Amino acid sequence: MADFSAAAGIRSHEHKHLDGRVLAQRILDESIAAVGDLKSSGWATKIVSVTIGAVPAVDLYVRNQRRAADKTGILFEERRFPSDISEAEALAAIGAMNVDPSVTGIIVQRPVPDRLSIKFLQSAIHPLKDIEGMHPTSIGNIVYRELELAPCTALAAVELLRATGLDLRGLEVVIVGHSEIVGKPIAFLLMAEGATVTVCHHMTRNLSVHSRQADAVFVAVGKPGLLTGAMIKPGAAVIDVGINQIAGADGTAKTVGDADYPSCAEVAGWITPVPGGVGPVTVAILMRNAVVASRRQRDHYRRTFAAANS
Ligand code: NAP
Repeated sequence: MADFSAAAGIRSHEHKHLDGRVLAQRILDESIAAVGDLKSSGWATKIVSVTIGAVPAVDLYVRNQRRAADKTGILFEERRFPSDISEAEALAAIGAMNVDPSVTGIIVQRPVPDRLSIKFLQSAIHPLKDIEGMHPTSIGNIVYRELELAPCTALAAVELLRATGLDLRGLEVVIVGHSEIVGKPIAFLLMAEGATVTVCHHMTRNLSVHSRQADAVFVAVGKPGLLTGAMIKPGAAVIDVGINQIAGADGTAKTVGDADYPSCAEVAGWITPVPGGVGPVTVAILMRNAVVASRRQRDHYRRTFAAANS
């Protein structure tokens, strides 16, 4: 029997809609307290956001991150670089942030111009400052069940499932999409929690055969309407990571996920909306990761100074 206590205040609309904004606020509230504790020990938490080139969608992400940082008491500095920056110049800029003790977290905003490799830039961030959880060290750590600095979107999606109150141990979960930033990390996070995980992708022969068996379905593909109500088990949780722009009935652009919300909501026990589901929780998790990174660096410097003075 499911325990709904963890979902208190997060479930709304016919008791199905999992409100990411409510969960995000809870996570931010915890981070406010943690940032205050760090400050009172003389340690400021500061994120530097790196944007390369001009992409309007990136400006929106950065605005949302700055707003969350302001609410949390985290310093937020934006550094913008021209789209023709060389790889060597970008690496030098990140290298300077790595050795600057006042910078405790670095995020490279996606997308970057095609001629630069986002993976290469993310790998240049010192793992202690990798608040997005995308450094190969951070990704590798989740395989070892060290989950604190995991990729933000994956952590956010898992936190939303946790908010249903379902026991993750032994839960049958299907993940649709196996990208490095979303699907695969979700799979590792859930395996660490004891879930039984099936990962589907574009070569999966019959997606419905898998998704209909699942107690929870994560969908992270980038295809509106991919998951329909007919493809899920009654009462299942649907965590929709997709963000897609489509033309609404009146011709204006509308943001939707990968799940067909009306038909899935008919069948699901829980469903995250888009917008207002995984997105806001992702930003809150970025702040939580920034706190974890900041605390680790403070402790690292304390140990180093103690060793030097002993
Ligand atoms: P991605 O790198 O393009 O990966 C998409 C994945 O979907 C791939 O693993 C692909 O498999 C799989 N796929 C493609 N067609 C499929 C099909 N017909 N059936 C099953 N699987 C299929 O995308 P991503 O970066 O993971 O992002 C996925 C979605 O999440 C996008 O809409 C993105 O905007 C959104 N997103 C949201 C957030 C947030 O904060 N809410 C953050 C990041 C991304 P193959 O590799 O086998 O083709």
